Amino acid sequence: MEIPNVNHTRKGLFSVGGVDVAIDGSWLVIFALVVGGLALGYFPTVDPGRAAASYWLISVVVALLFFVSILLHELAHAWVSNRFGVEVKRITLFIFGGAAQLSAEPADPRTELEIAIAGPLTSLGLGLVFGAAAWGLGEAGSLEAASAGARYLAYANVAVALFNSLPGLPLDGGRIARSIFWRRSRDFRGATIRAAEWGKVVAGGLMGFGALDALLGNLIGGLWFVLIGSFLRTAAEASRREALVDRSLQGLTVADLMVSAPQVVEAEESVAGAVERQFLHHGFGGFPVMDDGRPIGILSLREVRACPRHERPQRRVREIMRATEASVIVSPADAIATALRRMSEADCSRLLVIENGRLLGLITRSRIASVLHARRLLEGDGA
Ligand SMILES: [Zn+2]
Repeated sequence: MEIPNVNHTRKGLFSVGGVDVAIDGSWLVIFALVVGGLALGYFPTVDPGRAAASYWLISVVVALLFFVSILLHELAHAWVSNRFGVEVKRITLFIFGGAAQLSAEPADPRTELEIAIAGPLTSLGLGLVFGAAAWGLGEAGSLEAASAGARYLAYANVAVALFNSLPGLPLDGGRIARSIFWRRSRDFRGATIRAAEWGKVVAGGLMGFGALDALLGNLIGGLWFVLIGSFLRTAAEASRREALVDRSLQGLTVADLMVSAPQVVEAEESVAGAVERQFLHHGFGGFPVMDDGRPIGILSLREVRACPRHERPQRRVREIMRATEASVIVSPADAIATALRRMSEADCSRLLVIENGRLLGLITRSRIASVLHARRLLEGDGA
């Protein structure tokens, strides 16, 4: 799955082959549902007459293997992606599956296709492996439960492969569709918009199917599809909007939209002084922090507000600012789309424009938004 604007700043839980793995709290819900469904429904049916504790034990093992399967699906995307130089730093597992966060766009349709297809192929491969294991365990006449567990994992992995192959963003099938549109039109944004529109159709289909299923009596399963559908619809719409924005901003660089020679605050002045001198008078949400003429950070309203009012006269700006790190810097030649992506990665609505260690300006989300708004209004005016 490809989810735009996920919060990238959370720390990973562990790391596999250079890729951070983060687990969203919501993922525990799906884990609990899988374990519960297996222990209370599946295993007592396929292998009746055993102690409840043994059902729970094998259910946890099978759910963990399912978890590892999803992880391998996402790692396949990440590893192929890294091989092509489109770095994936993080995989996030959440209630509707997993998402690998790409740091940039793939360079060409072929790269896009290979990154996208790696996930479903891995799930399909795992399905075959578990299928073979189920057959082998059955033949060996070992525990019926072990064979049934492997069979469940085989079906689950094939289902993950098929579901992800549905042809609409943000699903892998949508990325495959995008790579095909892209190859034909040579227009990445246009292909994204089209694949996202397909995604909304797929999502609508899932919601309709879920609603029907719920009405016909499968309440929980049906509602689950409705939930997934509405989630996918939101994500598809976000991709579509992002592509529209990128298209409107195409050709613009940071230098075109930055505020040159911005107002600044000094690292050594007190927070109260900076508030009085700049925040209360200029109406900007944040300022570059200078130390001896060099930019060393950003001070925005968020940091000021986090500092208790009575401490502001004593605290220096340096102590509470957001220090300059790669994530809050752009260079003047960067595309606006790059700046926007960095803002959402850093969860920060302004970036320092720096060249050779010198502060050239400040680029803000609100400025980009107003230019975008103007372009939208004037687009197609023939002016
Ligand atoms: Zn995938």
